[in-house]
Amino acid sequence: MINIVKEPRLSVSTCCLAPSVRRPADVDTCSWSGRRGHSLYIVASAFAGSGQGVGANERLVATTRSKGTRRCPGSARPSVRRYVAAGHRYGIEEIEGKGLGIIANQNLEAGDLVFAETPQLTFETDSNQAIQQVKGKFAALPSKMQDEIMGLADAWSSRGRKTLRGIIETNGIECEPAGQSISRKAIFLNLSRLNHSCNANCDYSWNERDQRMEVYAQTAICEGEELSISYIDIREPRQVRQQMLQDNWQFRCSCSVCSMRMHAASDKRRLRIGELSALLYSSRSSTKKFRIAKRLLRLYKEENFAVKSYNLEACKFGYDAALELDDFEAAPRFAQLGLRCALICHGRDHETTKEHHGNRASF
Ligand SMILES: [Zn+2]
Repeated sequence: MINIVKEPRLSVSTCCLAPSVRRPADVDTCSWSGRRGHSLYIVASAFAGSGQGVGANERLVATTRSKGTRRCPGSARPSVRRYVAAGHRYGIEEIEGKGLGIIANQNLEAGDLVFAETPQLTFETDSNQAIQQVKGKFAALPSKMQDEIMGLADAWSSRGRKTLRGIIETNGIECEPAGQSISRKAIFLNLSRLNHSCNANCDYSWNERDQRMEVYAQTAICEGEELSISYIDIREPRQVRQQMLQDNWQFRCSCSVCSMRMHAASDKRRLRIGELSALLYSSRSSTKKFRIAKRLLRLYKEENFAVKSYNLEACKFGYDAALELDDFEAAPRFAQLGLRCALICHGRDHETTKEHHGNRASF
């Protein structure tokens, strides 16, 4: 898993070392992140071998002669870029005012799988013994992984002193299939590096079959753009969102939505979206649900929501309501849109996508 532990500075010729000291089969776990200034970044991750100069989870920095130089001059060996292009769509780097963040290393389309990763530490949040459970599992991890986890952000650190509890509370992410009675959270090293936005361009989805978290682009993203997820339900006005982020992660959001000068229209729309979303669950009338689903889809479009999980929810309710009302014109439209959103949120093989595929196929 990629995480920055230290940054030994290497000369330009040394950057060829990454592929040369490891077999190419190992090097596909390298990530390239050559964006800032005159530096080329290579993130070596999860190498199978050991003791050959580049350790797993080390970030190597090689100074290049000019901005944009991506190939290692004079090397007959395959360039780092080629290995990276085969496997990695993102890089981790310092984001001004935010600490570390994740940047797109290439243009992405809505529905592209940006990365997938297995959890490093899982725990049941319902259990009274949760923190003991975590401590026990943490103690059993290799020391390098312990360092990786302790390198993550702790919103509750005091005078720079992090605690395992603080890291868990800051970075724990739910990972369980819908409908499970046990509430399970996990720590993911890469996912934890994704910063928050109130209109995020990525979303994550738990893949129960492969026991891994998958991050999907929710919209077209340009190379060099920061990748983000939403830490909270964004169907709230700015003040409420800021309070939630402050209470849970101790930061003030400065995303593009929160930075808007004229935010009254957005606040009003999100407030209405929140009200209608609640009504979607509480209303017993199919006619009402049908109208609300359609209204919500319009509001999401007006608010320019990139994340498609909200649209997906509206499509599900709209589809069920349309069937109950025997509206066989609207039902396939909801099914079609629902399928498109499910593919973007969860990928092709997810149970939710299969369900929407079934809805679409029934017409
Ligand atoms: Zn924001």
